[in-house]
Parts: sequence; structure tokens; C-alpha cells
Amino acid sequence: MAFQVPSRPNEQPMSLVVVGTVAFDAIETPFGKTDKIIGGAATYSGTAAAYFSKNIKLVSVVGDDFPGEMINRFTQLGLSIEGLQVKKGQKTFFWSGKYHEDMNTRDTLDTQLNVLLDFDPVIPDSYQDCEFLMLSNLMPQLQKKVIERIHKRPKLVVMDTMNFWMETQWDALMDTIRYVDVLTINDSEARQLTHEYSLVRAAQKILKMGPRYLIIKKGEHGALLFNEKQVFFAPALPLEEVFDPTGAGDSFAGGFIGYIAQTRDISFDNMKRAIIYGSAMASFCVEKFGLERLIHLTHGEIDERVHQFIDLVQFDIALV
Ligand code: AMP
Repeated sequence: MAFQVPSRPNEQPMSLVVVGTVAFDAIETPFGKTDKIIGGAATYSGTAAAYFSKNIKLVSVVGDDFPGEMINRFTQLGLSIEGLQVKKGQKTFFWSGKYHEDMNTRDTLDTQLNVLLDFDPVIPDSYQDCEFLMLSNLMPQLQKKVIERIHKRPKLVVMDTMNFWMETQWDALMDTIRYVDVLTINDSEARQLTHEYSLVRAAQKILKMGPRYLIIKKGEHGALLFNEKQVFFAPALPLEEVFDPTGAGDSFAGGFIGYIAQTRDISFDNMKRAIIYGSAMASFCVEKFGLERLIHLTHGEIDERVHQFIDLVQFDIALV
């Protein structure tokens, strides 16, 4: 597989809109526990994508308990915040989770929707040139509203979701999935969505629900990309220490869509490269608690990690 290594964000005007939660998280892993730290699906996706694409446009909502310095940080990263609503007197979305010993599975301890409950996403005029749309984890009916409120269909719409919405908003979820090009979910969610244990069967069913592409994330076991006719597998980098998996899926999605937006190529072959970039971003994310690692990366570190991925899967074989 030939790699184009984009070492700097795209300087050309392009547009990637990232929608999803901006949140407070409280996380417990076998390595420690945090009080409220900054999290949220759009926070992770937007931060990861910012290493590839300039001028990413954020759509989300927070309460006035959310720190202003973090909003400034978004701007420094190159995220446009015109579509980030700050609601006076309301509390930011809060999620708390506890990881099991294997770090691959977790329990949600608490989800407080707070400011999300009456969130009505506004798409500023300056966002209407959206070429690529990342629907990070959020209420499915809100993800659909964003699709409807962008007047011209983007080149690619990628959607992430999770078990919480399958359990609480099944109909809205099924209705939104119909309108997206790429769905990213983890293996247990693919099984929950289809009642199929075989991921190949699950993929076949999901591809009939609307998306043309499906990415199934398997944590430390990598990720699978399906379309109707092809399958691609990318491993996860074997890491000595996984500190906190929170946001890995969102960083993966951010790296994936960021790379696609930068290269403006939505072919299956380019999606394979994008998955490697997504996997690289996820591998950084898990090395420290919260956003700590993701926020301080250099392009050199990203390039180096992508090369590690190439070395990991490259081999010569002579068929006998
Ligand atoms: P990930 O580990 O990639 O699945 O994403 C974790 C992030 O998703 C955390 O930072 C949470 O704030 C956020 N999150 C957790 N539950 C939800 C939910 N139901 N909807 C939207 N975002 C969520």
C-alpha cells in the first residue's frame, strides 16, 4: 500500500465540520482515577483531525461551567467555534466510566445529558461550505438535524455512535444511519445493532441499513473496513502500556476524516490509508489520561508512528 504522508495540515480552504459532545468526564482505570476532566466525542475527534486539516468547524454545546481557556485552546488548534453554543446557567454534558482490567471493555457509570437535553444545533453560514462531515457521538436525532441543516450534501458523511443510543434511541438511530456514508462502531456495538455474532454477517446487515462503508473498531485488536465487496484490516499498534482508552474511538475517527479531508480522496484505497492514520491517533490518545497526549503531538511523531504501522504489517512472501 503506497502512503502519502501529509506532514502539515492542508493550507487550502476546505471544510470539515465536526459535531458531537464537548464534555466533562470522570474516568477510572486500573491505573488511576480522575475527577472531572475535559472530554467529549467532538473534543477528541476535532483535536485529532486538526493535525491534518486546517479550519475545522465545531458544532456543539456546553454550559457556562465549561472553562474558557479550553475554548481558547480549540481556537489555537485551528477549530472554528462559531457553532459552539455556551448556555448560561446550564451544566455541560457529563459522562463517567470505569474500565475493566483488560482495558478493552468498560462500564458507563453515569451519563448526565444536561445541556444536551434542549440542544438545537445551529449551522452558521460560514459552515455551509462543508465538504466533509464528522458526526461524532451525540443524540442520533441531533446528528440527523445537522445533516438536514447543511444545504449541500457533503462529499462524505461519517457517523459514530454507541450502545447508549442503541438502548435509549433505537428508532432515531436507525433513521439517522440511513443518511450516512460511513458508520464507525465497535465490535460489541455491531453485534448489538444486528443481533449477529459474526462480524462479517453483522457488516452485511449494517451495509443494508444505509452506509456504504462500515468501520468496526476492535480496540487493541485493530479495525475492519467493509464495503459491499471488499474488506480491509488494520492492526492496532501493540503498546507496552495503555493508560486510558477514553476517546480512542473518537481520535480514530478524527484522524480518519482529517486525513480524508486533507487528501480529498474518498476511494476505498484512500480509506485504507485513513484508517492507519486514525489508528495512529488512537494509539497516542491511550498513552495518557484524557486529552493530555493528543493535545501535545508533533507532526514528526505522527509520521514516525505511521511508519511503525507500515513496518508492523509489511512482509515479503514467495508463494511455493
Ligand atoms: P470513546 O472512548 O471514543 O468511545 O469516547 C469517549 C467520549 O465520549 C467521552 O469523552 C465522553 O464524554 C463521550 N461520551 C460518552 N457517552 C456519550 C454519549 N452517550 N453521547 C455522546 N458522547 C458520549
